[in-house]
Amino acid sequence: MAPTAQVPPPSPTPAIAAHERLGGCACACKAAVRCHPALSSEGKASIRGVVGELLAAAGKDKGLVSLGVGDASAHACFRRGGEFAADAVACAARSGDLDCYAPSYGFPAARRSVPFVYLSAGTHHRVRESDVFMTVGGTGAITAITTVLGGAPGANILLPRPGFAPYEVACELVGAEPRFYDLLPRQGWEADLAGVRAMADGATAAIVVINPNNPCGVVYSTQHLLQIAETAKELGIPVIADEVYAHMVFGASKFVPMASYAHIAPVITIGAISKRFMLPGWRLGWLAFCDPNGTIKHAAVPKILLDEHDEFHQNVVNLLESAADALYGRVNQIEALQCYSKPHGSMFMMVEINTSLLFGIADDMDFARELIKEESVLILPGSVLGFKNWVRIFFGAPVHLILEACDRIESFCQRRAGQAKLLKKNF
Ligand SMILES: *Cc1c(COP(=O)(O)O)cnc(C)c1O
Repeated sequence: MAPTAQVPPPSPTPAIAAHERLGGCACACKAAVRCHPALSSEGKASIRGVVGELLAAAGKDKGLVSLGVGDASAHACFRRGGEFAADAVACAARSGDLDCYAPSYGFPAARRSVPFVYLSAGTHHRVRESDVFMTVGGTGAITAITTVLGGAPGANILLPRPGFAPYEVACELVGAEPRFYDLLPRQGWEADLAGVRAMADGATAAIVVINPNNPCGVVYSTQHLLQIAETAKELGIPVIADEVYAHMVFGASKFVPMASYAHIAPVITIGAISKRFMLPGWRLGWLAFCDPNGTIKHAAVPKILLDEHDEFHQNVVNLLESAADALYGRVNQIEALQCYSKPHGSMFMMVEINTSLLFGIADDMDFARELIKEESVLILPGSVLGFKNWVRIFFGAPVHLILEACDRIESFCQRRAGQAKLLKKNF
């Protein structure tokens, strides 16, 4: 039987879901309801929109292998044995202690547990309970910090490309201008800091750095993190450090929190239980401010975070490493595909497509659409992430599924390459 992995498309933000309910497309149509133009789907590709379109085109012969959306909790091997997180929540709920309104920044015990496990462990700067703000998922943290820092008239925020779409949406919702700096594929996906310096100006409010990185799978060295901090200092801006994949690293790489360099430039760390704890449906995230020099003025968790989970996390990281190794090895054997650096963290890999070798494939969207049609493999076209003719492949899946997907991608590419060669010969 063909292996299947049914992964639902990513759930929309409540605003986008509500907007679609009101009639979907541009705000001026059908329903006499006016909404924020940033939520208009016209002329803009969203991950959700593209994934929906691709799934609708999926072939029927083979079971679907979904390497398009980043949710490993769909696979039993990534789930925790026992009911540890559910028990923690049931226990907290039964106590009745949490039935009241929570303070808007989160329950004190939850706030206390975040720096204890996530930040102070790797940095010499102390993050206090009062520096932590609990949010609705990592995405809630993105919206909150963008609103706070990007709200000044004319403000801009520097975002990585390829990157993570909710940052751009959050910027547009508050009227901040997203400015994209490049991650360089042939230099281990390091940030183009010369480009960053050139595009920043007096209205730049912050720079977003995602490490370990989605979608590139890179884990930055201490040296590069230091360069980023020094660039931020030069520009007089804080670093928004998206560390949702904190500690999800393998091979020789080591996760170093950006907050280790908070004495150079202030760091606002974004975290969540969605990825490392494989609980994306629980919608829990946080912001943690680390600003030892006081440069910026401040404007069921404990049990989950404080419990020892070494075995669980080690198992997850081992599975991810095997999956990344398998994917990287196989992809680079396919003539039309190229991955410049093996992922060392997160759950994603960026792969460049040489469309000139493939018959009937003009771009990454064609590649993804034809692939799912013929082989029922879902991957994400890079143009959604601002990287045309690349694709993002998710590897948070069992190795046998990754290998099955590679077999299918390989036979798809071989067929298309054969047709392309035939066509050349005939001319
Ligand atoms: C998944 C993810 C988040 C947070 O997602 P939530 O599901 O909202 O917790 C934040 N940043 C990056 C880069 C991610 O991949």
